[in-house]
This record gives sequence, C-alpha cells and structure tokens, in this order.
Amino acid sequence: MDYLPLFLQLRSQPVVVVGGGRIAIRKVDLLRRSGAQITVVSPELREELHKLASQGELRYIEERFAAAHIEGATLVIAATDDHDVNAAVSAAAQARRIPVNVVDNPTLSTFIFPAIVDRSPIIVGVSSGGESPVLARRVREQIEALLPAKLGPLARFMGARRKAVQQALGPLARRPFWERVVGGVVGTRVLAGDEKAAEKAFENELRTSQLTTSPATGGSGIGEVYLIGAGPGDPDLLTLRALQLLQQADVVLYDRLVPDAVLDRSRRDAERIFVGKEAGDHTAQDRIHELLVRYARQGLRVARLKGGDPFVFGRGGEEIEVLTQHNIPYISVPGITAALGAASSAGIPLTHRRLAQSVTFVAGHVLEDEALDWRSLAGPRRTVVFYMGVSHLDRIVAKLRDAGAKADHPAAVVERATLPGQRTLRGTLETIAEVARDARVAAPALLIVGEVTTFMMGVAPGVTAVEDGSMSHGALV
Ligand code: SAH
Repeated sequence: MDYLPLFLQLRSQPVVVVGGGRIAIRKVDLLRRSGAQITVVSPELREELHKLASQGELRYIEERFAAAHIEGATLVIAATDDHDVNAAVSAAAQARRIPVNVVDNPTLSTFIFPAIVDRSPIIVGVSSGGESPVLARRVREQIEALLPAKLGPLARFMGARRKAVQQALGPLARRPFWERVVGGVVGTRVLAGDEKAAEKAFENELRTSQLTTSPATGGSGIGEVYLIGAGPGDPDLLTLRALQLLQQADVVLYDRLVPDAVLDRSRRDAERIFVGKEAGDHTAQDRIHELLVRYARQGLRVARLKGGDPFVFGRGGEEIEVLTQHNIPYISVPGITAALGAASSAGIPLTHRRLAQSVTFVAGHVLEDEALDWRSLAGPRRTVVFYMGVSHLDRIVAKLRDAGAKADHPAAVVERATLPGQRTLRGTLETIAEVARDARVAAPALLIVGEVTTFMMGVAPGVTAVEDGSMSHGALV
C-alpha cells in the first residue's frame, strides 16, 4: 500500500490553496464541502472565486506565493499551472511538515485526493496511487452506480436509532437486528424515499426482536414485493434501483419477456420462478397473485420482474391491488417500456416537431374495444404504437383505413427491440402486413404507425439530418 487512506476532519481548519484558476475552483468546491477555512493565494482570481471571497466563504490574498502564506496551515494545495510555483509550494510545505497536494503531480505531493463517492455520511474514496486517475475514476463510476442514492439518509436513519436499540436489545441481538434493518423492509423503504413507512417497519422489527430471544436471521414477519420493470430486453437498460432490488430479492418471479441476461443480474442464490403465460391463459394471473402473497407471507423479499414497464400493459395494477388487500408492502420500479426501447434502438423518434405532436400506446389485440377512437388514431402528425399486435396486423390496418387513414400512411414493425437479432421493417398501411408476413416477424414486436417511421430514411448513417424549421415556425405577428 503506497498510500494510507484516511478521513480527515477539516471543519474550521485552515487550508491554503495556491492558484486562482479552474483547477483551484475544483479544489475549493471540494474543500468547502468539508467545512474547511479556506485561504486562496494568487495574483489573479477567477470570477467564481471572487464571488466566494466577497461572500466571506474564503479569504483571498492577492499576492504571488510566499512561504509565509502557509504558516500554520493544516493542509496545502498547489493548483497553479506553473511548475516552478508548484514545486516551491511543495518544498515550503514539506519543510514545515504540512501535508501538501500538487494537483496532477504525485511526485511533488505528500498526499493525494481520491476519487469520491459522496453519500454522506457514507463516503467512498478510490485511489490508483497516482498511477491512473482515469482508472480510479472508472472504478468510482462503477461504485457510484452500485450504491443507492439514499444511502446517506439510511445511515442517518440508523444512526438516529442506535441508542434506542442499545437500550432495547442485548448485545448479541443487536448485530442481527441491524442486519435485518439494512437488508429488509426498513432499509428498502428508506432507500425508496418513504421514511414514514420505514419508521413503522422499524418499530415492528424492534418489537419482534424484543419478543424473540434468538431471532432467526433472514427476515422476520412479513416480507415484501418489488414490482420491477425489466425494460425491453437489453440488461443495460435496467434502472439502478431495479438492479439494487434484484440483488436483494430472495425469490424472483419472472415473465416470458424477461431474457436470461436480465435474470442473471439477480442474486446468485435467489430462487427463480417462471410465471410466464400464453395469451388467453387466465388462471396464470391468479397463480401469480397466489405466489406473491405466499412468498411474502413467508417473510421473503419477492421480486416480480416484468418486461418493459409494469404499468404499461403489464397488469401491474392488478398485482398491487392484491398486495394491498393482503397488507403486503411493495415497491414499484419503472422500466423502459417496449415502445421507448424500440424508438431509441430503431432510430424512430416517437414525437418530432414536424412529424408528430402526440403518441398513443394501444393494446393491439383488443380491437373491438369501443372506447378506442380509431378516427383520432388514423389522423396525420400523430404516432400510434400497437403492442401485442403482430398477429393482428391485417385487422389493425383495416380498422385504421376504415377510420380514414390513407393507404400510403407510413408504418414500421420493430421486432425484438434492443435484443440480439432486432429488425426494423418499414412500409405503409397498404404494405406493412405483407412485409411482416414475408419476413416472418414473430413476437415480441411492435407496430408503429405515423410519419415518424420515415424519419431519416435515405439519410446515410452517421449523417445528422438538419431539421427544416420552416414548417414549424409561423411568422411572428
Ligand atoms: N409491459 C410491457 C408490455 C407487455 S405486453 C412493456 O411495457 O413493454 C407485450 C408486448 O410488448 C409484446 O407483444 C410486444 O408488442 C411488446 N414488446 C415487449 N418487448 C418487446 C421488444 N423487445 N421488442 C418489441 N416489442 C416488445
């Protein structure tokens, strides 16, 4: 280990920054977060720093660096772009045994700044010992993605209750208790931003722990359900929260549309249960409800993983109704719905200033729904995305034509959006059904109808089409 990581208490400590440019600003920002008493020494100062000086946030000495400036400092930072000045600062600091950092110069520094993930009071510092700041930053990004945004509030939530737990539980019971808090309902509630529910769950947990002499690990009382949108298929399109909860769940109930690559992001030892159903299978949904309730009652954390978004043609509404009836806590996590995945990966903007002002998602298999206004769907400058419609293309097209859509109205079918083997087929209302048949398009696929499906057609890849604003701007009167 070339460097020992330490966390330094700098509140109200004198810290000197030499330099008044861009790099100095970055360091000053960081130091301000630690509450240090900052002095900046530099003949010139950037506007931002001037402002801080006039607000009393830092002391400004408008001089060239001299050794006297760092007398009594706790830390010194050289952030000038002049090597000689930086070297002089380093030498002066080292002669006085004051820790010094010269930005981007480990050999002149006696300490270095790590890349930081700040979820105060939880702080992660990453260092490559000056070998590769780029690599350290990359590691930092990975940790950043891993740690829930509300980790700080969770730490404070627990900190605020430490005394109470110390009084309520014996020393041996405390650690398993906190483990359950972090990994169970209480923790997930705080991380999801619902501290009220967390407070209630915490009190429950504490009461249960007081009653049991040797609390079993692995959850007590009722479990919970995470209703998670898995996105259109590409695992990189999962949300961070989906990943975090998948890592916690003991059981994963997943649909037909959820690919292995997504399932593989769940905990290794989680039980995976396929609950996919074929079209028209109505008992399957009841079985899902039953399983959700049964597993949660066993005190397990159940991930209900659904393709796309749970609340877009996903029957997520029915599932949370059942959970609410049974008093089972749940968290729902949105996913990228298939239409958005397809739009992005096929390069079809669902709305566009010139081509479409609105977009409608329609379930393409319930064509007789009287509430559906086909006339409005058939009009120009709007986009309609039909889910679950590939086996009904002829009928969808006929409905649109009957409602007044033109034969040459553009349409596209996007098959397996964001998945390996994705295809986009384009045509018009007159041709699209046949085009899809000839290409043997199979589910999952979407039908997109509207002018947007012609977007950038014929433009070479890599060339950005310049938008012609003339149609969308009226003259100012
Ligand atoms: N809740 C899901 C939709 C479920 S309905 C969501 O928000 O995306 C199932 C339909 O979604 C399929 O019949 C198909 O029309 C569409 N679909 C789902 N994944 C798809 C994909 N990767 N590519 C194209 N269509 C998809």
